[in-house]
Amino acid sequence: MAKKHYKIETSCPQCGCSAVSHLSTEEIRERFGDVPNVEMECSECMIKYQTDMKKACPEWDKECGMDK
Ligand SMILES: [Zn+2]
Repeated sequence: MAKKHYKIETSCPQCGCSAVSHLSTEEIRERFGDVPNVEMECSECMIKYQTDMKKACPEWDKECGMDK
């Protein structure tokens, strides 16, 4: 069975460049846990910022909520 991957899309509040990651369920849990915010580091200006998981990946947010 193929692993499901989620698309996490964020954009930097400082320079506006966007980042897209494709992570599996395990990778998301490992990296972000079950927190409602994702912490990202911009590859352009290197600042760290937080985004709502809801905005970054609505699909994951839905799935994550269903687990509870
Ligand atoms: Zn940036």
